[in-house]
Amino acid sequence: MIQLKNKSELERMRKACQISAQALQVAGEAIKVGMTTLELDRIIHRFIVSQGAKPSFLGYGGFPGTACISVNNEVIHGIPSSARVLNEGDIVSVDVGAFYDGFHGDNAATFAVGTVSPEAQKLLDVTRDSLYKGIEAAIAGNRIGDIGCAVQTYVEENGFAVVRQYIGHGVGHELHEDPEVPNFGRAGRGVRLLPGMTIAIEPMVNAVGEGVRVLDDDWTVVTKSGSLSAHFEHTIAITEHGPAILTTP
Ligand code: MG
Repeated sequence: MIQLKNKSELERMRKACQISAQALQVAGEAIKVGMTTLELDRIIHRFIVSQGAKPSFLGYGGFPGTACISVNNEVIHGIPSSARVLNEGDIVSVDVGAFYDGFHGDNAATFAVGTVSPEAQKLLDVTRDSLYKGIEAAIAGNRIGDIGCAVQTYVEENGFAVVRQYIGHGVGHELHEDPEVPNFGRAGRGVRLLPGMTIAIEPMVNAVGEGVRVLDDDWTVVTKSGSLSAHFEHTIAITEHGPAILTTP
């Protein structure tokens, strides 16, 4: 069931989303060559707790980290580790949520570690821009398929592939609510978008091939091809005046 949020609920949710966005910003500013993904996770954890919020992902389904931190060919759900060092030229995806005053915020971005290859930079740019293409389509009266179609079309025009096995979602009191928000699809299909809907749009884009698999740790999702992958996410609200990005610092 899709839970529509009223104005005061949206205001409360905006605060949780703001903390999530600030946590992502803190992560982006902290990333440097030679640090481990566990060190990065601890910085993110300290920030969220300092805001009086709780990390949404910690313990969710048994996940051991505050953030999902996924490097290079890792798509999503990477487990922060003291054994994983960030090297010059890596790309690192950070997915983080915060729970505050009864609501979750959820957002993600992929960052460059030092200087990255032109191909990696293009992947980051295309994935980030595809998120905004999806957001632009998130207009009341449109349908869920319009979002996915906008993301997929842009990604494929640029020669990359959208992951099919993992998708965006409604978000609010629960981290994952209805509806499902695929990053692919057909325009004019699916659930109609209504004011008060709050959804996380989160394209996961592989440089080569849409296929993914899960590693033996039962969490880390990697590209089947071994290619790089990027991930950008915002929590947004559908409003009468158009899409409102809630995860802004
Ligand atoms: Mg999400």
